[in-house]
Amino acid sequence: MDERYMRFALQLAESASGQTSPNPLVGAVVVKNGEIVGFGAHLKAGEPHAEVHALRMAGEKAEGATVYVTLEPCSHYGRTPPCADLLIEKKVKRVVVATTDPNPLVAGKGIEKLRRAGIDVTVGVLKEEADALNEMFFHYISTKTPYVTLKYAMSLDGKIATKTGESKWITSEDARRDVHRERRMHDAIVVGVGTILADDPSLTVRFGHEGKQPIRIVLDTHLRTPLHANVVTDRMAPTWIVVGHHVTEEQMKPYEHAGVQIIRMNENKIDVPTLLLELGKRNVMSIFVEGGAHVHGSFLRSRSVQQVLAYIAPTLIGGNEAPSAVGGEGFGRMMDALRLQVKHVQMIGRDIKIVAKG
Ligand code: NDP
Ligand code: ZN
Repeated sequence: MDERYMRFALQLAESASGQTSPNPLVGAVVVKNGEIVGFGAHLKAGEPHAEVHALRMAGEKAEGATVYVTLEPCSHYGRTPPCADLLIEKKVKRVVVATTDPNPLVAGKGIEKLRRAGIDVTVGVLKEEADALNEMFFHYISTKTPYVTLKYAMSLDGKIATKTGESKWITSEDARRDVHRERRMHDAIVVGVGTILADDPSLTVRFGHEGKQPIRIVLDTHLRTPLHANVVTDRMAPTWIVVGHHVTEEQMKPYEHAGVQIIRMNENKIDVPTLLLELGKRNVMSIFVEGGAHVHGSFLRSRSVQQVLAYIAPTLIGGNEAPSAVGGEGFGRMMDALRLQVKHVQMIGRDIKIVAKG
């Protein structure tokens, strides 16, 4: 029975995917005498936590009830008062938690508080599912850097463009639609200036999406992004351009006028681990790195990759000069290669999608 109600709580949590960052996805279900009397999900940072919605719905019936919650109830004052206190105040009898909150501000303290108040607490029901649901949040909380997904569309021979730089389109529209769904799950999309110059992409979530758009981040040491590039002019989503230390205020001004935010590094290059710390400070919990080959190469070299999404088209491009999915220096020895595990393989139209994780 515990699993059944927890599964419902997980579904509630998941229904808000892509809209809670930098907060986790959380669902809660209140059960009294074998009946569901309340349920809820955390919908947006700054808004009530899942437990608050669920307890509100349950009203008086919360007293003596069992509450299923996908993540340990919070015990600290954030933007909202602690849920552990609310559960105690509502006199619930039992709390079932799927997984503990790695946030050092909570980390077991929520559970401890409930137990001290005499509430029966069970921990670990559907823990694996709950951990998978919030893997980006857990990574961000424990490392203070965003979760990194590398994404590319490649031919069957591993090319992401022809030797002349053409890449439209390697995969079918169905696969590209799936990319838009995946983009939405991340706080920001990252590309190198090479991709901006080659393709002038808009990097927005389209195909019928409304609501929050991920931030567009361009890695551009010398500020070569054209002022007429789509990411500068279209105002469809926030754009951040990351530049080297030598770029002057004067150079930055016209971009800032266009609404672009410039992030100037302390060196004349963009070092990936330093960039990730900088983005972490700016509350970017996850990034979707869409190329090109050089940028992918830099993320690989610094081993800053949590997930790879490869869309593979049954097409052969060939050519020594045509870029492959991951360029840059690469590793010289097999033992240094980044080993991942395949988590998911799917046919999308005529293409194959592979999800692999570290
Ligand atoms: P990138 O988009 O990888 O941009 C590379 C440039 O980014 C570098 O030359 C560098 O320029 C700048 N840069 C800044 N910081 C870094 C860093 N830390 N690491 C690496 N680069 C950095 O361009 P590519 O030329 O490699 O790839 C572009 C090609 O890839 C195009 O032909 C495009 O069509 C294709 N493509 C295909 C995709 C696919 O999925 N099929 C997706 C994306 C692109 P600077 O020194 O001036 O800062
Ligand atoms: Zn809470």
